[in-house]
Amino acid sequence: MSRKIAIVGAGQAGLLCAIGLVDNGYQVTLYSDRTASNWFNDVTPTGLNGTQKASVEIEHQYGLDFWGTEPQIEGIDLTLVLNGQPGPRLIGRAAGTMQGVDLRLKCSRWMDEFEQRGGNLVIQQVGLKELEQIAANHELTIIAAGKAKLMGEVFERDAERSVYDRPQRNLAMLIVKDVHAEQFSGAKFPALKFNLFPELGEYFWLPFFHKSQQRCYSILFEAKPGGAMDRFGGCSSGEEGVEIAKQFIREHTPWEYDAAKDMQLVDEKAWLKGAFAPTVRHPVGRLPSGNIVAAIGDTAMAFDPIGGQGGNNGIQITQNMIEQVVARGSDPFDEQWLIDTFERHWQRFGKASYAFNNLLLEPIEPAAASVIMAAAEHQVVADDFISHFNNPNGFFPWIEQPDLAKAHIEKLTTKKEPQ
Ligand SMILES: Cc1cc2nc3c(=O)[nH]c(=O)nc-3n(C[C@H](O)[C@H](O)[C@H](O)COP(=O)(O)OP(=O)(O)OC[C@H]3O[C@@H](n4cnc5c(N)ncnc54)[C@H](O)[C@@H]3O)c2cc1C
Repeated sequence: MSRKIAIVGAGQAGLLCAIGLVDNGYQVTLYSDRTASNWFNDVTPTGLNGTQKASVEIEHQYGLDFWGTEPQIEGIDLTLVLNGQPGPRLIGRAAGTMQGVDLRLKCSRWMDEFEQRGGNLVIQQVGLKELEQIAANHELTIIAAGKAKLMGEVFERDAERSVYDRPQRNLAMLIVKDVHAEQFSGAKFPALKFNLFPELGEYFWLPFFHKSQQRCYSILFEAKPGGAMDRFGGCSSGEEGVEIAKQFIREHTPWEYDAAKDMQLVDEKAWLKGAFAPTVRHPVGRLPSGNIVAAIGDTAMAFDPIGGQGGNNGIQITQNMIEQVVARGSDPFDEQWLIDTFERHWQRFGKASYAFNNLLLEPIEPAAASVIMAAAEHQVVADDFISHFNNPNGFFPWIEQPDLAKAHIEKLTTKKEPQ
């Protein structure tokens, strides 16, 4: 008899976990407060999700990359906007491909796939009472309910690892069509176009695959609270958000306005605004009955979207959970094992990914500044810099230490002497 596992929450983390465990022969019940049709038709995306190559490869491993290579993003084109003018510009091509797929398409398709592969789907809003019953009836209960408030209460915040106790940016995300991308001079390949304003925040354009399977763009504004970019707070519709975005672009990056002037929201739910504090939680929650539950995805670690790391970390933490469950054989899924399982992910990926992402929220330090300046001059440095978004372990320790950053740049730019 195969072991019974419950998963709560059918976002990309819960769905990947559910499908990965079904494929490995476990009896999986997935509890979701929305159907596949709700995901596709009725809700806003829970995020934007430019998926890095390493995560796309995991999706491929489970046969879940239904959109082929659409849309391929091959690098990042980053401009520092200084005193209202375009300043140093870094155009780096990543070693692999990044993808931006509408989460409404992804999650609805994966939900159907889960059932087709033999998983048991229960449509239910899980509260504490239901969670107690679920945990009592399964050998392992995994929570992948995103940033849902109740789950935040089940898993204690790790104050030391979280770093922040309040939002660092006010966010607005819009999925738009009719962008005149040919007006973006610069990268000669499909690129994420990133504008960084040291005082105001950041905004970036991501080539995107909308749920209707049309190519478009997603724009994400990361506004520092109280600054001139922080103007989406009162916005009550996506259309209004698009007009505010055009106004900001006309005022602050007029050289991009021709690309933006005709853009329109792709569908009325194709937008999102809000703010949350980046948070790392204790990976094991103890319910009033004493039963334990485990966290993955945003429930375990919620990232500010600035570095495109949150969803990727969610895929990696999930892959780690699947691997460790399988490796556990028939031994109990006890508390120490759950802690060790999370620690394995934290040490291998989560810690570096979270640290790098948080670095982007802070004023640029000398080491990172020297690398960005060198990347604007040397293609090899730009390509190297961009390639580490895939696995941010590659940024450390040189991204934080000026002497190591200097040595790193020298190593990249100094040609080897012929033998
Ligand atoms: C604006 C924005 C931009 C982003 N951009 C990127 C990016 O470019 N790259 C990247 O890697 N990441 C990005 N992220 C992060 C990424 O979108 C998230 O990390 C990821 O989608 C989280 O997936 P998840 O499955 O953990 O949670 P969610 O997607 O939040 O899914 C949780 C699911 O659980 C369900 N649920 C909640 N409570 C219950 C309950 N009580 N009972 C039953 N079901 C429940 C919800 O309805 C939902 O379906 C971005 C996030 C935001 C907000």
